[in-house]
Amino acid sequence: MVYKYCPTCGTRLTKKMAGDDGLTPFCPNCERYWFPTFSDCVIVLVANELNEIVLAKMPYLSHQYASLISGYMQPGESAETSAKREVEEELGITLGNIEYAGTYWFGKSEALMHGFISRTTNQDLKLSRELASAKWVSVSEAPKYMFPDSPGNAAAAVYRKFVHEIASQQTNR
Ligand SMILES: [Zn+2]
Repeated sequence: MVYKYCPTCGTRLTKKMAGDDGLTPFCPNCERYWFPTFSDCVIVLVANELNEIVLAKMPYLSHQYASLISGYMQPGESAETSAKREVEEELGITLGNIEYAGTYWFGKSEALMHGFISRTTNQDLKLSRELASAKWVSVSEAPKYMFPDSPGNAAAAVYRKFVHEIASQQTNR
């Protein structure tokens, strides 16, 4: 979000040059800049040894589509810690190694999505109440259930990256 008023004292912000960042909202009272802020979220593709991935439905999202596990990071967490926490909370799965799968800007929520891919074993999911449903779906079938690919669709981007990885592993064999 771009600040118009100082979050500390409520003074209407002016604009002041901040080096290479150019004109930036500035509180003349507190004498500090207020750079635009956004949220950090994690989005995690959980795969098993059968080449299935977890797709989940959130009650507050469309009933039609399922997606990867995602959530807001908390202050003090690394993105890796946050990714593991979300998966543990929502699916009851403790992840071992996770692999960073890039960042994606989600303009609708003003959020930077940190993508991850994690390989685990096939196991029962213990769903949190935050989820309407979640299940293992074969990698090839998954797009049928996911939101259509579009710019800013982090789930689709992480999915494509995973498919690409599997394909390159198979050619290397
Ligand atoms: Zn102020």
